[in-house]
Amino acid sequence: MKAIPYARQNISGEDVQAVIDVLQSDWLTQGPTIETFENRMATYCGANHAVAVNSATSALHIACLAAGLGPGDRLWTTPNSFVASANCALYCGAEVDFVDINPQTLNLDPSLLEAKLESAAAAGRLPKAVIPVHFAGEPCDMAEIAACCRRYGVAIIEDASHAVGAIYQGRKIGSSQYSDMTVFSFHPVKIIATGEGGMVLTNNHDTYEQLQLLRSHGVTRNPAMMTGPAEGGWYYQQIELGYNYRLTELQAALGLSQLQRIEAFLAKRRELAARYNEMLRQLPLILPHTSPDRTSAHHLYPVQVRPEGRRARAEVYDLLHNQNIKVNVHYIPIHLQPYYRQLGFKPGDFPNAEAYYRGALSLPMFYDLSFDDQDKVVAALEGAFS
Ligand SMILES: *Cc1c(COP(=O)(O)O)cnc(C)c1O
Repeated sequence: MKAIPYARQNISGEDVQAVIDVLQSDWLTQGPTIETFENRMATYCGANHAVAVNSATSALHIACLAAGLGPGDRLWTTPNSFVASANCALYCGAEVDFVDINPQTLNLDPSLLEAKLESAAAAGRLPKAVIPVHFAGEPCDMAEIAACCRRYGVAIIEDASHAVGAIYQGRKIGSSQYSDMTVFSFHPVKIIATGEGGMVLTNNHDTYEQLQLLRSHGVTRNPAMMTGPAEGGWYYQQIELGYNYRLTELQAALGLSQLQRIEAFLAKRRELAARYNEMLRQLPLILPHTSPDRTSAHHLYPVQVRPEGRRARAEVYDLLHNQNIKVNVHYIPIHLQPYYRQLGFKPGDFPNAEAYYRGALSLPMFYDLSFDDQDKVVAALEGAFS
């Protein structure tokens, strides 16, 4: 049997042609296609501004810098995420801490956040920013998170790497209604692909200008931003320490072309999730939680193998892999990574994320997954528990 991956991009003939068109144009990097891609994404999400960069990791880095994060500052995020959600703080010389997840939503728990902010305020150790992650594409409790962050003047950067197209309280994730900035990833396993790629969305014009500087060496050609007059048409100034985090025009063309099919991508993911929900009901699995006031982008379909069931997660993983069904695990809690343990974190620090991880299994979920192949995944799971 042909392998069934857990995720996979879909590339159409139009996507290929869009990239070829750019190859035959005058611009290979930072040109008109990037600007169109940014404008379309901003419009799609209902945000004022978008800055495209070469990965979500870069996007998180410059978002943290734009939030003012530096040495002596603290950033909090969820342990149930990819390491990039925390590493961005360390890039800025800041410290990282975590807020445990809610066992139902698997997202950062707003009541734990509130309690932790209260004691941090008392100790004079408030974080400068919090990064909630919309795990698996399911939006976080943004209204509750924003309410307690606002009380303490803490910035919010949404890591929406999983959540392009997700909806919260009637508005797209990316609208940044409850945050200062939102970050997307266009890695091939995510909702739309550019190969590598990411974006920061914001409604704040100063933040937007800062992000543009940080993306490209801290260099500006805008006379209004310069110290002193421009010396001629050639003139530019470096006014910040920036990076080269630019996306290419080839990638932007691919992203733009993918964005045209996003509703079909999301609809198929919703359909697959509904089928899994129905077909897996009888198995000893905890299925993903859904809330009525939000719509997941269904980047992942994460189930939990029940600890009291007759099979451990590792056994189920191996049984499925032996049948060429390449299920995966998201996530090993960040604080349990050796790099983070060496910073002082240890098992038991965030018990909800650790308990979730022990049973976690991400089932195949992608646009080109056929119902036949999905039935094979379900049959293999039924076999594992029979
Ligand atoms: C994929 C991912 C990232 C990193 O994205 P890149 O575009 O590969 O840098 C960051 N955070 C989360 C939650 C992700 O899933």
